[in-house]
Amino acid sequence: MESVSKYIRQFLRERTINGEGARKGFEVASQKIKADPEIRKFINQHQSQLADDAADRSIAKLREYVMVRDAEKNDQASFVPGYTPQLIVSDHLIDVTYKPTEELLAKRKAVRMARRVTTLSMPKDILNASLDDFEQSDGRFAALTMAVKFSDQYPSRKQFMPGCYLYGPFGVGKTYLLGAVANDLAKSGVLTTLIHFPSFESEMKASIGDNSYLKKIDSVKKSQVLMLDDIGANTLSTWVRDEVLGVILEYRMQQQLPMFFSSNISMEKLADSWLTFTNRGEGEPLKAQRLMQRIRFLSREVKLTGSDRRPKK
Ligand code: ADP
Ligand code: MG
Repeated sequence: MESVSKYIRQFLRERTINGEGARKGFEVASQKIKADPEIRKFINQHQSQLADDAADRSIAKLREYVMVRDAEKNDQASFVPGYTPQLIVSDHLIDVTYKPTEELLAKRKAVRMARRVTTLSMPKDILNASLDDFEQSDGRFAALTMAVKFSDQYPSRKQFMPGCYLYGPFGVGKTYLLGAVANDLAKSGVLTTLIHFPSFESEMKASIGDNSYLKKIDSVKKSQVLMLDDIGANTLSTWVRDEVLGVILEYRMQQQLPMFFSSNISMEKLADSWLTFTNRGEGEPLKAQRLMQRIRFLSREVKLTGSDRRPKK
């Protein structure tokens, strides 16, 4: 069938010339519109609710409907992008309403979801990570099981649920798994903050002078679920250990808010080296133990092994 909008466009062009041509153009366009199968079907289905001359009296609305529908069909820009027109009965006449397209709804949902995941210096592709796409292998099974269990149970938990401490070599997918859990939790409305710890450490150190770090720590520590990516990577500063990490861990333990960590080293090594020997040099095993106690309360250790998934250079 020839596109009705072609006649309408023609009509609109001719209308500007006015006179006989315009009147004829109008008639042809109106007849075409009334003969449109979708419009005929609508009128048939709603005959009992419509006035006898509803089609004629609603011709401007029907024209609008056809124009927008055909523009959408032909992938042309319509004046209501993202919405699809629908005919309705209104006071015995025909009117047009607009319903968001599936595409628009999906886009809105993605924006809502992204707002539930706050990231700090994390790779962008993390926002697309999903538990369904997480590669299965023997070495990843335990971690994936824990991650899925947390995502499934946390939103309806009755009591405190610890997060996970994921450790293993570079490239096995620790960061990816954190992102996947955060995205999955977002679907249930849970707000997660995912932080690349080494970058956070630098940012905190840079803002010691103006005390703005206090505000930053405050918003981070209160996040519903908090994930620290790549802890134990470089030498920790004593100040960051006690005034940043220590403060966050203390608050979260008291408030019983779960944490996730990713690291290249195990909890044991984290306690014996990273937390014990900071940039000040002398070991502080007691302080390290205190912090480690909190980490163990807030998360459960699980090892990830397997192939390096990083793209080959
Ligand atoms: P790690 O944090 O353990 O060093 P990453 O999570 O950064 O490893 O993963 C390394 C690379 O492999 C990244 O580019 C990541 O997006 C990709 N990747 C990891 N796991 C998966 C997966 N299951 N499916 C698809 N891509 C993955
Ligand atoms: Mg990583």
